[in-house]
Amino acid sequence: MKNILLLFLFLFTFSNLSFAQKDYYFPGETFSEDIPSPYSYLGYHVGEWHTRYDRMVGYMEKLAESSDMAELKTVGYTNQLRPLIVLVISNASNINNLENIRNNHLKLVDPKVNMPDVSNMPAIINLAYSVHGNEPSGGEAAILSAYWLLASQSDKAKEIRDNAVVMIDPAINPDGRDRHTNWANMHRGFPPVADPLDREHNEIWPSGRVNHYWFDLNRDWLPLAQVETQSKIAWYHTWYPNVVGDFHEMGTNSTYFFEPTKPFGSENPVVPRKNYDEINNKFAGYFSKALDEIGSLYWTKETFDNSYPGYGSTYPDIQGGLGLVFEQGSSRGHIQSSQRGDITFQFTIRNQLKISLATMEAGVKERIYMHQYLREFFKTGMDEAAKNSVKSYVFGDEYDESKNRLFLKLLLDHKIKVFDNDRDISVKGKQFKKGKSWVVPTSQPQYRMVRTMFEKVTEFADSVFYDASSWTMALAYNVPFEGQPGFAAGKEISSLEMQELTFPETGNYVAYMVDWSDYFAPKFLHAIQSAGVHVESNALPFTSLTDQGEKEFPAGSLIIPTAFQKLNAAELRNVLQVAAKESGQNVFASTTGFSKAGIDLGSNNISAIQVPKVLMLVGQGTSQYESGEIWHLMDTKVGMPISKVDLSAFGRLNLFEYNTLIMTSGNYSSLSSGQLTHLKDWLSRGGTIIALRSASQWLQSQGIIQEEYLSIKEETTSASKPYASRRDESGAQAIGGSIYNAYLDNTHPLGFGYRVTEIPVYRNTSIFFKPSKSPYQTPVRYTENPLLGGYISPSNLEKVKQSASVLVSPVGRGKVINFIDNPNFRGTWFGTNKLFFNAIFYGDKI
Ligand SMILES: [Zn+2]
Repeated sequence: MKNILLLFLFLFTFSNLSFAQKDYYFPGETFSEDIPSPYSYLGYHVGEWHTRYDRMVGYMEKLAESSDMAELKTVGYTNQLRPLIVLVISNASNINNLENIRNNHLKLVDPKVNMPDVSNMPAIINLAYSVHGNEPSGGEAAILSAYWLLASQSDKAKEIRDNAVVMIDPAINPDGRDRHTNWANMHRGFPPVADPLDREHNEIWPSGRVNHYWFDLNRDWLPLAQVETQSKIAWYHTWYPNVVGDFHEMGTNSTYFFEPTKPFGSENPVVPRKNYDEINNKFAGYFSKALDEIGSLYWTKETFDNSYPGYGSTYPDIQGGLGLVFEQGSSRGHIQSSQRGDITFQFTIRNQLKISLATMEAGVKERIYMHQYLREFFKTGMDEAAKNSVKSYVFGDEYDESKNRLFLKLLLDHKIKVFDNDRDISVKGKQFKKGKSWVVPTSQPQYRMVRTMFEKVTEFADSVFYDASSWTMALAYNVPFEGQPGFAAGKEISSLEMQELTFPETGNYVAYMVDWSDYFAPKFLHAIQSAGVHVESNALPFTSLTDQGEKEFPAGSLIIPTAFQKLNAAELRNVLQVAAKESGQNVFASTTGFSKAGIDLGSNNISAIQVPKVLMLVGQGTSQYESGEIWHLMDTKVGMPISKVDLSAFGRLNLFEYNTLIMTSGNYSSLSSGQLTHLKDWLSRGGTIIALRSASQWLQSQGIIQEEYLSIKEETTSASKPYASRRDESGAQAIGGSIYNAYLDNTHPLGFGYRVTEIPVYRNTSIFFKPSKSPYQTPVRYTENPLLGGYISPSNLEKVKQSASVLVSPVGRGKVINFIDNPNFRGTWFGTNKLFFNAIFYGDKI
């Protein structure tokens, strides 16, 4: 009884506290009784709890069932199988007529089609929330925005329903959002605790910001490495919204941010000036009015980078729409103290709601203007293409069919037109073969995306970058490419057809062989090793007479002798055939071990490939992104399970059960001296450590490796500078993310599978190691003129020129493979992934 009374008192107090919430969010509004309110569905007022994603979806379903003005679409699924939804809201006649509206709207993006009459065309407005799962106010505002738009009896809501199709993504990253939702709810106090140090406000590793694979989805709109973004982009190109709102949160002590962003430095070079100079300011008027009405403070024109096309607020700018980033100072939890007093979850939600409504209002008021701009964007793209001296880009890697196809898929997913190359050509000394290369004309509606994929930019209006300053995707894929002054090609390709593969007829073979040059060769190797196949590899090249004629096998090829196998001949053949099909590999076979050139198949320069037993240290202290990139890479590109062991569990580890240890950037100082001794012992007895970036610094600080840092004496000056300039000065010294050319030793096991001796690498660190003192242990080092794209200060560029990108430090019988640049950056550096694969499969051969 006492308990029931307490519960009653508790509920009473609780609902009393929140009873005024309708007035808080929607003062003076009348709502239709036919539409269920968030409270009636959730059982609490928005802002009292963090709403679980399944409940959010449930409410959106309920809205769609209750009204003929809403339709719910599922556009994909997350890795954890949560549906990715878009709730479409407009008046009933528009909802019944969506396909016609869409087809009419799409005429705006095709300059070849006559301009449709836009006077009655609704604005297409996409409100997208909480791409960072631990920035939760957006998702809650989505619930209120959807309710308001469907149920409000106001003229304003009616005007929006009649003149816009509003598409609400309540959460772009549901897997991450639920991680944070559970965290905030499970630590909620009664009353809630505002102390910023309370556990509620401090998530553990991995944070809700990232998705299942610990990726930041707000960097993925260009690379499309993750399923959430792949689905989003496929959907995006069916609608080309006029306006896209991208709702975030920032530090608790900040107020609210909306665009315009900082002029020039944070703007994308291919976006028309009109977007920044005119449209952003036009929309800013609506946002400032909305927040002024409730006395909420805000800022604009400072920071927040808007240049990298992988942001959800930048990509729409390269698709003829207006992408808008919104940032609310976070309560991260239910209430948190800030410099301006306590910030409640409700307060953050209300600001996001006001801005959501203002975005819809602006989209409707500027509807005709935005339609004309969408048309103009694609038209001026064609005009600019006509002035560009580069008329087409030709690309293709003769030896890596899988990587070609991955790059082709990226281009097609971004709706770039690609054609077969129907002749052998040579451009600036590079050979492009018929059937193994493709041509992208610059004169096409997606001209600005073509530039994004292929252009190298080294000149900038500003020197302070919040993120990447270069993103040339053709360099990230390391696909040979060149611009050319003409355009000639075969037929346009619309989809990727199945690859034609070769596999030997049944025969009496001495060995099967697979070239290691293909991107998915490691997937093949892992599959057959898992099936118990004994595999060897050559340290020097040879030419064999195979079932397909004479073929050269460079160092690092896979050799599968038919002798020494546990499987019988038929079983072996079957395993190889299945693995080859699944990984897209060509398999060759020879009836003799006697080579036409180079070493024979029984040579001492051919040795067994050890089966990797890989452990990656993860958790607090290590890099969430780098660990996620490796996990995702090994799962999706190799199909190989790796043990992810928490750094705090190191004490329970027996390293001798593994042969390869991955250490991502981070702080490993939590290891005890006993644990350190175990690590050193394992290493010196033959273990391989793959260390990324600051992990190498830590190993150096512990004396485990003895390399040399590069230091260049910089000119010091005692001249005074304005205090206010100090941030920009230090920002200019940071290396935000840029692309460099490096020499590659492809005779080194880490260089196996590469047919080139120079490769582009991605650097976003200021760690500079000198090349190894051993002449053989710096397989990747920068060239004398290394900058390919992006911003770097002159003094940092000097350091880059003299430093190593990858170097190996032998330690006893083991070694540390140091990656000073991240070979797996954002799941998109296909060109350097092979260096990492080599570290895993060939690490013991160094
Ligand atoms: Zn964010």
